[in-house]
Amino acid sequence: MKNIAFIGLGAMGKPMAANIVKAGYSLKVFDLFKPAVEEMIAKGATAASSPCEAALGSDLVFMSLPNAAIVGNVVTGDNGVLAGSHPGQIIIDLSSVTPGHTKKMAALATEKGVDYLDAPVSGGVAGAIAGTLTIMVGGELAVFEHCREILQVIGKKLYHVGAVGAGDTLKLVNNMLLGINMVGVAEALTLGMKAGLDPKIMLEVIGVSSGRSYALEAKVPNFVLTGNFEPGFAIDLQYKDLEMATQTGKELGMPLLLTNLAQQVYETARASNLGRKDISAIITLLEKLADVEVRG
Ligand code: NAD
Repeated sequence: MKNIAFIGLGAMGKPMAANIVKAGYSLKVFDLFKPAVEEMIAKGATAASSPCEAALGSDLVFMSLPNAAIVGNVVTGDNGVLAGSHPGQIIIDLSSVTPGHTKKMAALATEKGVDYLDAPVSGGVAGAIAGTLTIMVGGELAVFEHCREILQVIGKKLYHVGAVGAGDTLKLVNNMLLGINMVGVAEALTLGMKAGLDPKIMLEVIGVSSGRSYALEAKVPNFVLTGNFEPGFAIDLQYKDLEMATQTGKELGMPLLLTNLAQQVYETARASNLGRKDISAIITLLEKLADVEVRG
């Protein structure tokens, strides 16, 4: 597998694409945001003028896009990936979307003899840069094995978790926990600050105690304490992930009490124009209520 295409060069996609070029693959890229494409050309990639052109002649097409509607347009549009696909090609969607959406895309791909894997990732921008992401893959096991080598360029913890859509399901379960944990961390640290604790001491002690979490360890030192809330993982994307969990809960008749409460916190942040900020920026809502700032 030599000729790779990569569509979606955002906070996650760009460093993943850069690692693929660095590993010696021939890479064609497409994104609507031209500066990201130019940055990749400077690193050795070539530019495609549409998803169709990116797919033409490529063995494998990766996508890392914001949501299911965009993935749908990119795959099935007039100038979409499937318009440029050939039998035997593989499409891997690294985006976080619903399992139902992935199953529809996979069925359309199958009609053209194209294999489709859902492979959402976890580990944040830092993991994408370092090439150490966790990748949870749904789809044919043999196709996953065929792609193992290139997946190892972008991630170090690879899991085949079931049939097509299973990767998406596991990702939305994981991101329910991230979304809920982040709200918990924000509320707890704001209370500690209001009560007179030092934020760095809270971070150090909780980091070796039973309240620790990824939200605490990755988001507090890098975002909260510095006051720099540029994503990272945007509130809009976390909101989308909680919405996917909410939908799945409704389909399965399962109440999701904490998920829905956390989702309302992210909704409040979106209403306060924080949608493009990192998820840790929800702490600023609580800081305003408490009249303190957790910085240090
Ligand atoms: P992002 O918004 O930074 O990047 C998305 C990119 O897609 C942008 O460069 C945008 O220009 C491009 N794009 C949008 N519409 C397009 C189209 N029609 N054609 C081509 N390009 C288009 O998002 P991100 O943070 O990189 O996240 C990408 C996916 O990965 C999302 O599904 C997200 O939920 C998931 N994810 C993000 C993180 C994170 O920490 N940021 C972690 C794990 C998973």
